Amino acid sequence: MAETAEKQQYTFQAEISRLLSLLSESLYQNREITLRELISNASDALDKMRHVRLTDDSQRDDDELAVRLEPDEENRVLTIRDNGIGMTKDELIENLGTIAHSGTLEFFQQLAASGQQADASLIGQFGVGFYSAFMLSDRVEVLTRSYKDEQGYRWESDGSGSFTIEPVDGLDRGTQIRLHLKEGDDYNDFTKDARLQYIVRKYSTFVPHPIKLGDETLNDQRPIWVEPKSNLSDDDYTKFYQHLSHHTEETPLWHLHLSADSPIQFNAILYCPRNSFEKLGFGRNEHGLNLCAKRILVQDNNRDLLPEYLRFLYGLVDSTDLPLNVSRESLQDNTIFRRIKKVLVKKVLDHLASLAKDNADDYRTFYNEFGPILREGVGIDFDNREKIGGLLRFRSSHTGMDETTSLDDYLERANDDQKKIYFLGGPDLASLQKNPNLEVFQKKNIEVLYLTDPMDELALSHLTTYKDHTLTSIDAADVDLPEDEKAEDSESKDEKSDEEVPSGFEKVLTLFRDALGDQVQEVKRSKRLTNSPVCLVNPTGSMSTQMQKVMQMANRDFTMGKRIFEVNPHSPLIERLSNLSSNADHDNFIRDCAKQLYANAMLIEGLAPDTETLVNRTEQFMEELAQKRSPIVT
Ligand code: ADP
Ligand code: MG
Repeated sequence: MAETAEKQQYTFQAEISRLLSLLSESLYQNREITLRELISNASDALDKMRHVRLTDDSQRDDDELAVRLEPDEENRVLTIRDNGIGMTKDELIENLGTIAHSGTLEFFQQLAASGQQADASLIGQFGVGFYSAFMLSDRVEVLTRSYKDEQGYRWESDGSGSFTIEPVDGLDRGTQIRLHLKEGDDYNDFTKDARLQYIVRKYSTFVPHPIKLGDETLNDQRPIWVEPKSNLSDDDYTKFYQHLSHHTEETPLWHLHLSADSPIQFNAILYCPRNSFEKLGFGRNEHGLNLCAKRILVQDNNRDLLPEYLRFLYGLVDSTDLPLNVSRESLQDNTIFRRIKKVLVKKVLDHLASLAKDNADDYRTFYNEFGPILREGVGIDFDNREKIGGLLRFRSSHTGMDETTSLDDYLERANDDQKKIYFLGGPDLASLQKNPNLEVFQKKNIEVLYLTDPMDELALSHLTTYKDHTLTSIDAADVDLPEDEKAEDSESKDEKSDEEVPSGFEKVLTLFRDALGDQVQEVKRSKRLTNSPVCLVNPTGSMSTQMQKVMQMANRDFTMGKRIFEVNPHSPLIERLSNLSSNADHDNFIRDCAKQLYANAMLIEGLAPDTETLVNRTEQFMEELAQKRSPIVT
């Protein structure tokens, strides 16, 4: 075919050109990781080949699957060769010319902009590890032939915006990556045996295929997950974590090594990383777990073995009870698979509970990073809802700003007769603490959880109850309070205040109703307030204010429900207004007060009232006040 005999030129997707220039200009280059990434790609291709051999009779052969490092010192070329699945021409264009995941470039741009020693070694996490080849080389050749194809191809680029592809005859199945090393001392030793040995042992020792330099195999290929824990050092675990996660220097926050024999045999190691990428705002964690059957990798990013809310974990699961040639679909309905998943979830949640108990600092670190993801579990995993609830942390009227409490500690402090767990949502702690709904709780010394993150409130609304205590927002109209501890102890003033209402109060309520119209559902006397003149509460059965705000963010058409405007007859202001109400001349002033009090109540909850009328009204109040004052006479 004449057409395929030619060399064709292609341009990289714009994102790749930008990524490559970031790599060379802004990001700190740990050049050793290039080798790790290319070996990891070779190993993936070998895994896939092994799988093809197992499932396709026409592909059976006995060649040893291996990665080979072939340094050529004289020509300054390092070749990484594998006999894996190789790539067809279309696959070359697709795999080595585009970025598969959105958000990848943005991540590296922000990393570079963050100023610190921004590290390019994260590259493998984002599915663009191949391009690290250009950190070492000023020209990269990829010679490859797919097991599906008779024809092989050469892909070539200097990393500056375009690449070429041309057919090449006589290639073995698999891929050779040929790095034409850059000039300079930093690059020279990438053709030296000692350096290559060192790098492979450091980064790639757990690669499950032999990595060969001449006749020597450089890596251990040790399946540490099947070894007894007592055989393994912290260093073994850390190295394996680095292998799985492509996190070069990091130690995991914690790990969990599990092995079960009945009813299902499996071994697993799970790791929690130190940082949440999602917290930094870079899309979802999609790395999944490695799934092995009888030590052979059958899937490298399985996302069905752990629920969504544990997606930040890295790890590997190996079961002798799983078939080797499994497809994604068949796995999902596989009972063995489901049972393994159940055990993993239980073990992780138990581990977190004991971490929280035994090592509060580590748990706090964990929760700060992954709490928001874990929290999703309350709405997803019905069976483990209460367990997850126990892992959540909140600030409260007891803990103040800097500490947090668990629901268990909250209940520990609560009176035995308290049947509910109370919470209040608000935009920030300062305005929460000013919310008049809190007053009665303060008076009765009942703890209230402060939820500044609406997602916390969403989680609690999914949870509904915790250890038989109903979770209750204190801005609900029907929030019935626990009885006062001892009735006889109550101050006589309280008793009295329940009965006596200043004369004129009913008139004030009427004027308030008149002023607020259908902005509110109802205006009524409050029994919960002690100091504040008014508060807003939600009618029985409706969502809390913060939840309604969440709904509004998600859906512009959502209108917030009307609320009940409660008025405290004993607050000095309302007492005064009640007094004034006997003279109809003050009606307009009292109406204005109602509007202003309503606006204030909205503001406290972080809701925007009509600012323009609010400003006009306060100016008018000030004017009236100013008129009543006289210049100081000396
Ligand atoms: P990732 O490995 O995360 O997918 P890379 O940028 O490292 O991202 O590689 C991109 C893709 O190129 C791989 O997914 C694979 O399809 C292909 N590829 C890279 N190296 C090889 C290889 N040695 N053999 C076969 N395919 C490869
Ligand atoms: Mg890769």
